[in-house]
Amino acid sequence: MSGSPRHFTTQLAVIGSGIAGFAASIFAINRKIVTAQVGNTGAVAYTTGYLDLIGKLGGTTDPVTDPWQALTRLRETEPKHPLCRVAADDIQRAFTEFTDFLGTCGLAYSSPGACNITALTPVGTLKQTLCVPATMAAGPRALAANAPCVIVDFKGLKGFSGAEVVANLRDRWPQLTTQRIVFPGMDRGEVYPEVMARALEVPATREKLAVALNDVAGSAEVIGLPAILGMHRPDHVLAELERLTGREIFEIPTMPPSVPGIRLRELFQQVLPQRGVTLIPQQRVTALSFADDGATLALSDSYGPIRVHAQAVILATGRFLSGGLEAHPAGIREHLLDLPVTQPADRSDWYRERYTDPRGHPIHRAGIEVDDSFRPLTREGRRHHERLFAAGVILAHQDWIRGRSGAGIAIATAFRAVTEAEHFLLS
Ligand SMILES: Cc1cc2nc3c(=O)[nH]c(=O)nc-3n(C[C@H](O)[C@H](O)[C@H](O)COP(=O)(O)OP(=O)(O)OC[C@H]3O[C@@H](n4cnc5c(N)ncnc54)[C@H](O)[C@@H]3O)c2cc1C
Repeated sequence: MSGSPRHFTTQLAVIGSGIAGFAASIFAINRKIVTAQVGNTGAVAYTTGYLDLIGKLGGTTDPVTDPWQALTRLRETEPKHPLCRVAADDIQRAFTEFTDFLGTCGLAYSSPGACNITALTPVGTLKQTLCVPATMAAGPRALAANAPCVIVDFKGLKGFSGAEVVANLRDRWPQLTTQRIVFPGMDRGEVYPEVMARALEVPATREKLAVALNDVAGSAEVIGLPAILGMHRPDHVLAELERLTGREIFEIPTMPPSVPGIRLRELFQQVLPQRGVTLIPQQRVTALSFADDGATLALSDSYGPIRVHAQAVILATGRFLSGGLEAHPAGIREHLLDLPVTQPADRSDWYRERYTDPRGHPIHRAGIEVDDSFRPLTREGRRHHERLFAAGVILAHQDWIRGRSGAGIAIATAFRAVTEAEHFLLS
């Protein structure tokens, strides 16, 4: 193993490979910014594939049907929320640019509309989201129309039950029924969504599945399946299965890590290098330093040390699950630069008494502070460095889980961080 580091030079370095990091790289590509991205495996594989903007407003349990109106309300009630630093037009542009990019890569999404879409969760409850993958779009439509529909699940598949989906939706969707079948060639033991998805990329498997689906679908015009419609060309797999069955088909996300999340991760890892991004996946940046003429990221892979020299850096390292923030007995830390973290005064204030408290838990609003140019701030309220920007759920003053706004915060703030980084690079 060589001891001398390999060097990469780039205009922009993105740290993190969650939705914020990948969105930042996409926005940078579209602006012809030379970009390198380093990211450890993160939460992207866990996502349902839905891109939420605002699904709930703080302290309430009512679902949000108009996220743009909710944004106006959020500006009044939570002005420090990261989404409140982004103009509604920019949020719309960011979602459109992100979903258009995915569409050109064979993973079509619905466009961000005026209203949320009422979408199905893995257990048959409902959630509000802004954009859904094209493979899932027929589900909300069939629900709204109360169309005769059969949810088909598979012998040996754990974590997805058609009976559960039907039981939870019975009042809302009386025409919904369920059937269980054997997945072609997988009639023994446990079956896994990822394996089924890859198997459905083979035409012969699709043909056999179509026959099995038609055998149980009866008069249903629409078939709902767990998310298994291929890993790399889901739109094509959907179209083929619809052609073969003569019925409309949709996917429902399964429990994480689910195929739609893995699809996104694999698509980004395949497409970004083709579009010119230097992608260093599965690695963690261990040090980040700044000098007058640029920033340096330090990391190592199995061949030895790597140094990335960049003119600007976007920090998109997420929260606790991804390791951007660390919870210690003495408090919450940002792990790479030790940026100050806005957090409850004392550890005993991290959680409220009741787990299900509708106000959520203060620890879930912890994060770093940025100014209006999305540059992280020091304890004294100054910019940490002109070259440093931040995006995603590492930002303070938002509880994305409770607000159903994970992708929205990631995409919108990545858009603004890249816009600001571009201004800096051109200045
Ligand atoms: C179970 C689950 C379900 C979800 N479902 C939805 C959903 O239905 N709709 C929705 O909109 N959102 C959903 N999300 C949220 C979404 O997946 C993202 O977590 C969220 O958008 C935040 O993105 P992020 O990029 O800011 O952070 P993360 O996704 O947390 O990504 C941070 C990245 O930084 C990397 N990283 C951290 N430190 C370093 C380092 N030192 N060097 C290099 N890389 C580093 C991590 O490995 C990770 O790749 C879900 C998340 C989870 C966990």
